[in-house]
Amino acid sequence: MRTVPPVEDLGEGVWSIPVPVPHNPIGFTYVYVLPALGGPVLIDTGWNHEDSWDALVSGLKQTGHGVDEVQGAVITHFHGDHSGLVGRLREASGAWIAMHPADIEVLRRLEEHTDEERSASVIDQMTRAGFPEQDIETFRASPNVFRSPAPPDLALRDGERVDAPGLDLRAVWTPGHTPGHLCLHLAERDLLFTGDHVLPRITPHVGQFPLDSADGNPLGDFLASQSRIGRMPEADRLMCLPSHETRFSGLAERAEEIIDHHEERLQSMARLLEQGPTTLWELTSNLEWRRPWADMRTLARHMAASETAAHLRLLEERGLITRNGSADLPRWASVAGPHLPE
Ligand SMILES: [Zn+2]
Ligand SMILES: [Zn+2]
Repeated sequence: MRTVPPVEDLGEGVWSIPVPVPHNPIGFTYVYVLPALGGPVLIDTGWNHEDSWDALVSGLKQTGHGVDEVQGAVITHFHGDHSGLVGRLREASGAWIAMHPADIEVLRRLEEHTDEERSASVIDQMTRAGFPEQDIETFRASPNVFRSPAPPDLALRDGERVDAPGLDLRAVWTPGHTPGHLCLHLAERDLLFTGDHVLPRITPHVGQFPLDSADGNPLGDFLASQSRIGRMPEADRLMCLPSHETRFSGLAERAEEIIDHHEERLQSMARLLEQGPTTLWELTSNLEWRRPWADMRTLARHMAASETAAHLRLLEERGLITRNGSADLPRWASVAGPHLPE
C-alpha cells in the first residue's frame, strides 16, 4: 500500500488533496483545488468511502475552504476513484459536476443493466475468450457490484473552458483509458492535470469492452491521445499533475515512452500469433504481466484479457491479424500465416 502524501499548497490558490482509495494498491487519488470567483473548483472527487470523504473535507479545510463553498467539480473520467464522491459533494455544496459526454454516455449505458445482467455478459465474454471453467466459476461466485456515481450535470467537450468566473481552465480530450477521458490545462500557470492519461511510472489500463467487440479501437485512440498531448506547444514547460503517483515534467518524453511500451506489446503479440491461431485466453496467459499469471486473481485476469483484446483490435485495424474460428470461440491469427519458430 502506498503512503498517502500530505495536502500540498501548489501556489496561487491551487492545492492538491490526496484522497485515499481504501484496500486498493493505487493508494490514493489526488483531488486538485483551483481558485475561482464564487468558490473553489475541484478536479475529481475521490473514491466513495467514509475515510475518503473525511480526507476530502479535512483537506479542503486546510486549503481554507468549507466543502459547502465548492462551486463545481470537473471529473477527468468516470472511474470510481475519480467520480465516486460526486453525489456526496453535490449534496453538501450544490456544486455542478462536469464530465466529457463520451463518459456520460458510458455511465448511461452501464445504468441500463442490473449487476446480474452485467455479470452474465462478462461470463459470456470470458467463455468466448476461452477462459477455463475454474476462472469462470470464481468470477460467478464473486460479487460484481457496479457503484454508479450520481449523473453529471454538465458536458465538457474538447477545447471548452470550464464555466467558472476567474478561472481559465480548458478541457483537452484524451480518449483511450476511457472514451471520455479529459486532461485539464491551466495555461496561465503552465499546469496540466493529466488524470490517468499520463502517469510518471505506470501505464494506465486500456481495455476492449466487450472483450470480442469489433467496434471502437480504444488503444488506437489512446496512442493518438498520447501523441496529441505530447505535441502540445507548451509541452516542454508544462508541470504535469497526475491523479496518482507524483507530479512530473517532460511530458513529450513520457508520452513517447508510453507509446513505445504499447508498440513493443503489439509486436510481441503479433509474433506469438505467427505461431498459429490463438484464443484470447491462450494469448493473454502467455504474455508477461507485472505479476505472474499464476498469481493473478480472476478479476485481474479479466482486466489483462481486456488489455490484450485492445491490442488485438488495433492489430486487426492495422490489417496484421484476423479473427477466425467459430463465433463461440474466436481465434486470432497472423495475416502472414503461421511461421515455424526460428
Ligand atoms: Zn482510471
Ligand atoms: Zn485513477
